[in-house]
Amino acid sequence: MSDFLLSARALARHYPVRLPGGLLGRPATLKAVDGVDFDLARGEVLGLVGESGCGKSTTAKLVLGHVPPSAGEVRFDGAPVPTDRRADWRRLRRRMQMIYQDPLGALDRRLPIVAQIGEPFDIHCPEMPRPERRDRAAALMASVGLRPDQAGSYPHELSGGQRQRVVIARALALDPELLVCDEPVSALDVSIQAQVLNLMSDLRDRTGFAALFISHDLKVVRQMADRVAVMYLGRIVEEGMPDQVFHAPLHPYTQALVSAAPTPRRRARDRIVLPGDPPNPVDVPSGCPFHPRCPAAVARCRSEVPTLMRDAGQAVACHLAQSAGGALSPAPRAPRIPPKAKVA
Ligand code: SF4
Repeated sequence: MSDFLLSARALARHYPVRLPGGLLGRPATLKAVDGVDFDLARGEVLGLVGESGCGKSTTAKLVLGHVPPSAGEVRFDGAPVPTDRRADWRRLRRRMQMIYQDPLGALDRRLPIVAQIGEPFDIHCPEMPRPERRDRAAALMASVGLRPDQAGSYPHELSGGQRQRVVIARALALDPELLVCDEPVSALDVSIQAQVLNLMSDLRDRTGFAALFISHDLKVVRQMADRVAVMYLGRIVEEGMPDQVFHAPLHPYTQALVSAAPTPRRRARDRIVLPGDPPNPVDVPSGCPFHPRCPAAVARCRSEVPTLMRDAGQAVACHLAQSAGGALSPAPRAPRIPPKAKVA
């Protein structure tokens, strides 16, 4: 048995694209994920946060073997995750399940929910007697707080929160070791979000699954995750325990992200406003990809790519947060060289 349930090493997914220009366009490469490393222990929840388009969802697809990596690899329980959707991939999928953002899109509108919750038994356990499959589906409904009289309901007859409970019940049918949750509550009202998150925490305590929990909402990640990784332009720029990342962020991007999350005690003037939009992943800036927006950038940042350095359970990819001895400290917040023209 491997030490970690899931490991990603130098994981990358690049897509060839064509940019405007010339008769057929200019060939270019879109780097959706560009060298991601992480480990996930059994029963652990790793939160993956970052702006839209930073590569979180592509990382989820790579983990599940939905798309093949352009470089690097994903290992599940010590073995590479197959991507060719043959028998070994299907066997592995019993052990890793996905919860999507849009429950209505993930469910079949023409099937009653009890049939959809029992579907994994039909697909993966055809030898199981039909009454047992029905009983197990009913038990799963009860475990996520759905009433027996809702068994024959169709997805459109349920609320958003109830639909997401159906999706969670179906994902847990085969006792998976890993759940990949891609923005699982972002389509729900705030009050329903809390109910679904509490349900997921309870189920995790009971069943012990590990999870890769993807969200742009730091509050949600803080509630669910044991460890947090922050992504920017296809790379992990900071990783650590929630208290480290949310209370003492080291990377200037994480500092800005955390400062923008609303809390009762945070004042509007404490917010760090980053200049400009995230760069196009087709045209990733040289050196540190964050340097065009970084308030602390120095000349070195424009030419040298920072590597993810670890110390005392926290990791950061920033030249200014890494000392020569390997100790980490927050990158200074004061602007060093704001105007680009001043760099020699
Ligand atoms: Fe900012 Fe430089 Fe650190 Fe990148 S390496 S985050 S540009 S200070």
